[in-house]
Amino acid sequence: MNLNPYVNIHTHHVGEGINVLDVGEGKAWIEDEKRRGIEEGQEVFYSVGVHPMKLGEIGEDALTCVNDMLCTGRVIAIGECGLDRRSPVCIEEQERVLERQVELGEKFRKPLIIHCVKAYSELIAIRKKMKSSIPWIIHGYNNNEQILRQLLEHGFYISAGTALLNDRSNAFHLLRHVPLNRLFLENDDKTVGIDVIYSVASGILGLTVEELKRVTRDNLKNVFAI
Ligand SMILES: [Zn+2]
Repeated sequence: MNLNPYVNIHTHHVGEGINVLDVGEGKAWIEDEKRRGIEEGQEVFYSVGVHPMKLGEIGEDALTCVNDMLCTGRVIAIGECGLDRRSPVCIEEQERVLERQVELGEKFRKPLIIHCVKAYSELIAIRKKMKSSIPWIIHGYNNNEQILRQLLEHGFYISAGTALLNDRSNAFHLLRHVPLNRLFLENDDKTVGIDVIYSVASGILGLTVEELKRVTRDNLKNVFAI
């Protein structure tokens, strides 16, 4: 029997299944890539982007680097990029850098993987203002129902991760409110295997793991054409 692969839409380390590996703005990526062997059962794609928490330490040329990287094979997304109230850089500057990345996404037709902390109204406003037509995927969603509803109304995709392991989390309680055709799963920078995330999510959704893998595989195909 040919099983579907796990789809891990946002990770910082490669594991089983199809991985969208976050390589930051991409500088160190090529060297790492030469060193890393791919094991059987693993497939790797990349996302490159400027993280709002790193804005203070990296210069403007990071966006040029992202631009160059987007022409590279197997780079399928921009991210993680977004807005974070905890960043030492002011929200206006973060918005400016995010808007530049949205422009790159539109230019290269690459979806965005979004990191957002306490700035959802600003985030939604930017998507509206820029009339963005590419998919935006909120990674690690763990916020309330009202924000979830707004994000869905505005066409966002939702990715849930290790918060699902906590049955008192928003993610756990709201997972069933995410339409299956907008859902992704991830393990981010955590050591928890993607198989564990799928197992917990399938229990919450009342699907088998294989059915859930089919759902995210179809979504990957629809969003990234891979
Ligand atoms: Zn991450």
